[in-house]
Amino acid sequence: METTKKEVNRTIICKLASSQRKDEHVQTTIDAWQEMAGWFSDQAMSFQPSQWSSPTSSNIINNTLKREFPGDNGIMAAHAQQAGIKVLEAYKSWNSNGRPSDSHPSGQFGDATYMRFRVDYFELAANDSGYGVKLKLSPGVHEWFRIIGGEHQHRDLARILDENDQMTHGSAELHRQVDSLLFLHITTKEQVAVVTPDLDEVDHVVGVDLGERTIYTAGAISSLDGDWSEVSKDQPAIEPGREFRHHRDRLTDKRSQLQAAGDLQGVKACEDEHARYTDQVTHQASRAVIEYAEQFTPCVIVLEDLTNYRETAHDPIHEWPFHQLQEKIRYKAKEQGIPVADIDPAGTSNTCHQCGTMDRAFRDRNEFECECCGLEYHADANAAFNIAKLWVLRSQHDDVSRINDCSMWI
Ligand SMILES: [Zn+2]
Repeated sequence: METTKKEVNRTIICKLASSQRKDEHVQTTIDAWQEMAGWFSDQAMSFQPSQWSSPTSSNIINNTLKREFPGDNGIMAAHAQQAGIKVLEAYKSWNSNGRPSDSHPSGQFGDATYMRFRVDYFELAANDSGYGVKLKLSPGVHEWFRIIGGEHQHRDLARILDENDQMTHGSAELHRQVDSLLFLHITTKEQVAVVTPDLDEVDHVVGVDLGERTIYTAGAISSLDGDWSEVSKDQPAIEPGREFRHHRDRLTDKRSQLQAAGDLQGVKACEDEHARYTDQVTHQASRAVIEYAEQFTPCVIVLEDLTNYRETAHDPIHEWPFHQLQEKIRYKAKEQGIPVADIDPAGTSNTCHQCGTMDRAFRDRNEFECECCGLEYHADANAAFNIAKLWVLRSQHDDVSRINDCSMWI
C-alpha cells in the first residue's frame, strides 16, 4: 500500500442573505474595487506579456499601493492589492493559454460585479441558526451576512471552522448578480493522504472516464478467481452530457448577445449562473460515481491524471469542469474510505479494451469499433475499462509506458 500527500483545492459557493442597506454598501464597495482593477488592467496592458508574470508587475502593484494609500496598511490598500493580483492572474492565464501576445483580456475589469477578499478580510462563524460571514467592506464598517447554504456547503463550512480539521480557506470572491443576489465563492485547501492499494488488496478496479459527450463513464473490472491476468467486466455507468452541454450552449449564446450589447453585468450573471449549475451537476455526478464504486468494495477508483490538461478561468462557461468533478470524486471517495489512483490516460480512448489494439480510426464519437477483434462498444465505456485495465497493468509491470501492446494486455 502506497501513501502520498496531495493538495486538494476547491471553491465553495454560498448564497448570502442581504438587506437593501447592506446591498447598497456591497455595490459601492464592488464599484470601488472594480475601478482599482480597471486601473491595474490598464497598467498591465502597457506591458509586454513576459512582464505580466515578472517581478516588474508586483512592483507596480506595490508602488501603486504606496502612492495611493501612503502609510495605510488598512482595508482599502488590502482590497487594491487583491485587485492587482486578480488582474495579473487573468493576464498570466491569458498569456499561458497561447492567446495572441498583442491582445489582452479586455472587458473583464472595471464594470464587472465582483470583488475579491484577502483571506483575513472576511470571517466565517457558526451560530444557532447556521452560518454567517463578516465582510470587511470599507474602513471601520464590517457587515454580517447569513449564509444560505445546502448540505454540501454546511458540511464544508463546518470543516473550515473545525480547528482539528486541516481544511483551511484562502481568499474569497463576492459576486453580486443583476437581481442583487449575493454569492460568496470561498477557496479551500486541504492536504489529503492518498492511499493507493496494491493489486492484491482490491477485488475490483473502477476506471472513470470524463468527457464532453458523457459527463462521466465508470466501468468496473474484477479478477477471475484472484488472477488479474484475466479480468471480467461489470455493467458500466454512463451519464450523458447532453443536458449540461445544452445549458452551456444556451448561456454562451446569451452571453455573446449581452456582450455585443455592452451589458457586462449581464455577462457576469451568465457566468455566475453557469458556475452554480456546474457545482450542482458535479456534485450529483461525483455522488453517482461513488455509489457505483460502492457496489464493488474493496475497490480502487482510477482517474485520468489531467496534469497536462489546462483548465483556466479564461472562459468559465465554455470549459468543461473536469478538475472540479475529479476533486469532488476524490473527497467523496475519501469520505467513503475508497482509495483513488491516477494514471496517464494516453491511448485509453483509442485502444480496444478487449484485444488491446490501438487505432484512432476505431473511434467515432460515441462509438468504438475494433477492426481487429470486432468489438463494438460505447466509446467512453471502452475508455473507462482501459483506464481500469491500465492501472492493473501498471501495478503488475512498473515499466509499462503505453498500452498498445497486445501481448501485455491479455
Ligand atoms: Zn479489439
